[in-house]
Amino acid sequence: MISFEIPEYVRQQNDQIRMVAESQMRPIARHYDEHEHERPTAFNEFMWQVMAMQQQMAAQRRAQREAEGAPRPKRPSTTNLRQLFMFEIMSWGDAALLLTIPMPGLGGAAIEAVGTPEQKERFLNHFYEGDMKWGAMAITEPGAGSDTANIQTTAAYDAETNEWVLNGEKIFITAGKMAGEMPGSFVVVWATVDKSAGRAGIKSFIVPAGTPGFTVAKVEHKLGIRASDTAALVFENCRIPYENILGSPEVQDATETRGFKGVMKTFDASRPVVAGGALGIARATIEFVKEKLDEAGVAIRYGLPRHKLTALERDFMDMEAQHKAAWLLTLRAVWMLDNERPNTLEAAMCKAKAGLAVTRITQKAVEMLGPMGYSRQWLVEKWMRDAKINDIYEGTGQINMLIVARRIFGYSSRELK
Ligand SMILES: Cc1cc2nc3c(=O)[nH]c(=O)nc-3n(C[C@H](O)[C@H](O)[C@H](O)COP(=O)(O)OP(=O)(O)OC[C@H]3O[C@@H](n4cnc5c(N)ncnc54)[C@H](O)[C@@H]3O)c2cc1C
Repeated sequence: MISFEIPEYVRQQNDQIRMVAESQMRPIARHYDEHEHERPTAFNEFMWQVMAMQQQMAAQRRAQREAEGAPRPKRPSTTNLRQLFMFEIMSWGDAALLLTIPMPGLGGAAIEAVGTPEQKERFLNHFYEGDMKWGAMAITEPGAGSDTANIQTTAAYDAETNEWVLNGEKIFITAGKMAGEMPGSFVVVWATVDKSAGRAGIKSFIVPAGTPGFTVAKVEHKLGIRASDTAALVFENCRIPYENILGSPEVQDATETRGFKGVMKTFDASRPVVAGGALGIARATIEFVKEKLDEAGVAIRYGLPRHKLTALERDFMDMEAQHKAAWLLTLRAVWMLDNERPNTLEAAMCKAKAGLAVTRITQKAVEMLGPMGYSRQWLVEKWMRDAKINDIYEGTGQINMLIVARRIFGYSSRELK
C-alpha cells in the first residue's frame, strides 16, 4: 500500500538541506537574479564539497559492508523520494541557484536509467572526484521541442574509426555552458541514426566537454531562473567513441518504438523531481503570504462554509489546496518509482499539475500583496518569474496533459496528437 510516511533518515537529511537552503541560497537569490550570467562560484564550491563528501561516505559504507560480508539493509528504496525532497527544499531556497549546482543533472539521470555499468562507472561513480563538473541533457532543437520525434541532429557511424559523428544544433539547454566547457563534464545528446526510421532511429549519446566539434554557441537572457545558464550547443563533425551510445544501437522498423520508449523513460524519473522543484517555489510563496497576512492581523478562518469567507480567505485556501493536491500527486509518482512500478501516467500528471499550480499560486500572491508584491524589495515577483519554466521544460503542461489523456483513454501518440 502507498505510504506517505517519511522515514526518519530522510527527515534528518531534509533538515540538513533546509539549513543550506536558508543560509546559502536565500540570502544570495536576488543578487544572482539581477546579475544574470555571473557564476555563483562560492555557492557552487560549497555544494561540490558537500556532495563529494556524501559520495565518499556512501562509498565507505558500501566498502565496509562488503568487507564484513553484511547484506544490504533491507528497506524500500528512497532514492527518488530523497531526490524529490532535495529539489523541493532547495527550490524553496532558490530555484535558479539549484540549477547551477555542479551535478550530473538530467544527463546523469539518463545514464542512470539506460546506461551500461561501464558507462555508469566512467561518468557517474567518480563524478564528485577532482574539479567541479556538470551534466546536461540536450533534446530540444530549433525545429523540435514538444515534437521530440522530429529531431534532426544526426549520429552517423564511422566503421573505420569505430566512432559516432554528430552534426546538429541544440537550444535552451540547462547547464549547457558549464557541461559543455568544464573539463570532465558531459552532455547527453539526442540524435537520429536513421531519419527514415522516425522515432525508432532516435538514440542518446554521451558527449564529453571539450570534444572537438562540440561548441557552446550562446547563452540565453531569460525571464526567470536567471542564475541558471541556458545554452545553445552546436555539433559539427563531433566524433565520440562508439561506447558512448546509451542503450542499443539497433534500429527497429518504423512502427517499433522500443528504443525511443527507452529514452523517454528518463522522463518518468525527472518529471516528479521537476514537479518537486515547482512545489518548493509554491511553498515559499504560500509561507511568505501567510507571514504578511499575520503581520497585517489577518487570520484565515478555516472551517467556515465557503460563502462566509472573504475573497482573500478563499483565494488563500485555494492556493493551499492546489499546492497540497500537486504535492500528493508528486509523492505518489515518486513512491511508484521507488517501488519499481510503471509511473508514466503519474509522472506526467504530477508535472502538469505542479507546473500549473505554481504558476497560479505565484501570480495570485503578487496580486494579493499589492504593489509590494510587484516590487523587487520582496522575492515574490521573482518567484512568479521563476515559476513559469516548470510549466515548460520536461514537457509543457499541454504535452503532459496529452500523455495523461492518452494513458487514461488508451490512445497511442498517433491516435491522439
Ligand atoms: C529555461 C529553459 C530551460 C530548458 N532546458 C532544457 C534542457 O535542459 N534540455 C532540453 O532538451 N530542452 C530544454 N528546454 C526546452 C524545453 O524543453 C522546450 O522549450 C519545451 O519542450 C517546449 O518546446 P518548444 O519550446 O519547441 O515549444 P513548442 O513545442 O513549439 O510548443 C509551443 C506551444 O505549443 C504547445 N503545443 C505543442 N504541441 C502541442 C500539442 N500537440 N497539443 C497541444 N499543445 C501543443 C506547447 O505546449 C507550447 O505551449 C528548456 C527551455 C527553457 C525555456
